[in-house]
Amino acid sequence: MVEFCPECSNLLRKKRESGKTYLACKCGYQKEIETDTDQIKKTIQNKKDALDNNLIVVTDDDKISIHLKTAKFCPKCGHKEAETWQSQTRSADEPSTTFFRCVKCKYTWREY
Ligand SMILES: [Zn+2]
Ligand SMILES: [Zn+2]
Repeated sequence: MVEFCPECSNLLRKKRESGKTYLACKCGYQKEIETDTDQIKKTIQNKKDALDNNLIVVTDDDKISIHLKTAKFCPKCGHKEAETWQSQTRSADEPSTTFFRCVKCKYTWREY
């Protein structure tokens, strides 16, 4: 995406500041733009609604992961609902690790 400054016609550059993305110009002009992250969040939000709240979207700056809510017994507090997600494995022959996090006490554990 290429945009030019309406003030001086110079090329605007993307910059990130406190979680927001701006198009900024040397002359001081800047405008906030919607980041791709926001777009992805919205897409996930729609899916989330469709799946009746069984997905938990975790955002960490630009990284977005989707956790699935599942019925799982927490070994720490005994709560019966946990988030679950799988780790990314580097090679195909490594078994993937499934993580669980209690929605109540946030205790995290994993199963192989
Ligand atoms: Zn300018
Ligand atoms: Zn717990």
